[in-house]
Amino acid sequence: MTGMSKRSPGARPKARSARPAPARPAGPAAPPAQLDPAARCPCCSGLAYGACCGPLHAGDARAGRAEQLMRSRFSAFALGDAGYLLRSWHSSTRPARLTLDPATRWTRLEILGTADGGPFHAEGTVEFRAYYRERGGAEESMRENSAFAREDGAWVYVSAL
Ligand SMILES: [Zn+2]
Repeated sequence: MTGMSKRSPGARPKARSARPAPARPAGPAAPPAQLDPAARCPCCSGLAYGACCGPLHAGDARAGRAEQLMRSRFSAFALGDAGYLLRSWHSSTRPARLTLDPATRWTRLEILGTADGGPFHAEGTVEFRAYYRERGGAEESMRENSAFAREDGAWVYVSAL
């Protein structure tokens, strides 16, 4: 997920509020939201966060499949964990920094298909639809086919296809 940019060609420009930003500590973005390990995982696997994407976010486990990494990245978007998104991005395509829009709330994920990306593959693709709301508006979605590869043995996101 390219930072799951919704600014595809033809997309309407996003309204930007002119009011000054609320007083917040300068420097790095806000820390990611903490989620109860017993809560349902944001990636919609049906598993508890602590048995799904949580250990990946915490660095206690590695994704065995590209789809698992993709799910963990969606959950990181949902939780505002920019650090994990950068860590799980291929070094050749990783942005220098990533700012997540706090007005975008990622609501659910649908995996549409996968190719390769298994324990014995070095590359793979995952096609998905990610749902979100902007500033409490109606649910919208974006569809992407993402490329993943292994870097130093770990699955990482490469780019949208
Ligand atoms: Zn998950």
